[in-house]
Amino acid sequence: AKELGRGQYFVVDDKLTEEVHERGKLQQDMRQAIERGEFRLVYHPRMCARTRKPIAAEALLRWDHPERGPIPPDQFIPIAEETGFITVLSRWVVQTAVFQLRSWMAMGLQPLPVSLNLSAADLMLQDQAQEIGALLSELEVPPSLLQVEMTESSLLSDRERVQEQLAELAGMGVELLIDDFGTGYSSLAYLHQFQVHKLKIDRSFVQRLTHAPDALLTRQIVEIGKGLGLCVVAEGVETASQADLLTAMGCDELQGFYFNKPLDLAAYQALLEEQQEA
Ligand code: C2E
Ligand code: CA
Ligand code: CA
Ligand code: CA
Repeated sequence: AKELGRGQYFVVDDKLTEEVHERGKLQQDMRQAIERGEFRLVYHPRMCARTRKPIAAEALLRWDHPERGPIPPDQFIPIAEETGFITVLSRWVVQTAVFQLRSWMAMGLQPLPVSLNLSAADLMLQDQAQEIGALLSELEVPPSLLQVEMTESSLLSDRERVQEQLAELAGMGVELLIDDFGTGYSSLAYLHQFQVHKLKIDRSFVQRLTHAPDALLTRQIVEIGKGLGLCVVAEGVETASQADLLTAMGCDELQGFYFNKPLDLAAYQALLEEQQEA
């Protein structure tokens, strides 16, 4: 039994070594991937619940790895967060999105606001807000066209530093969204300390909508958001009945595969053009 135990130990150890190696390799590749142009943004529209027309879009990162093919963000963002590389990656995301907004404006399109996902480490950077502000003003992009999404846990990682950056962003007119709302250590008491504009209810609450006791919970979360005077967004909307229920509950914005999959640049631009003609 002892030997078996040892044997198993080594099997696990091998797997672990392999995984560590694997992560190390991805981590290395990530550093070159920016220069090699392997990252791109896709745009996932958010709809006005009432009119069902697009009113904003979320920028989501995609990595087209030359050998492995597309790597989903759930696989590389956590590694980037662990190593601290996320701040480099986020800078690329911010720059790409703001340049894109600039270029839509130059084309005579009226861009919809774009929201970006920032991680805890990004929000703790001393001059994050200042840097974003400088970029916006340099490219003459109105701050109202940029929005920042962050999870509840990243608000709590270093409250004072994060609060300072967020206050500065909000002060310039950049709207703030709490992502995956309802899944974290929801202490509603802290929410008013941050100048948050919107709550994005996590997909898991949307999925459980058609189940009676769970629907009650979703309704309560929407009501908390409305009670705090915030705009309430639901993500992961996949069916017409989910969209209708959420609208009836008072959600302001809806996002999900029922309306669109995240769109590549060309497809999203076509949508903007269509909107403009309508
Ligand atoms: P998230 O911010 O919660 O983004 C929503 C994710 O759900 C996206 O996955 C989106 O494609 C997917 N989704 C949207 N609507 C639906 C739906 O109706 N049904 C289903 N099943 N899924 C839906 P994606 O693009 O794979 O991103 C996963 C996560 O990776 C994001 O979750 C976010 O946490 C992270 N991420 C993506 N891009 C970035 C980025 O630029 N920076 C950072 N820090 N994180 C990012
Ligand atoms: Ca998000
Ligand atoms: Ca989310
Ligand atoms: Ca998420």
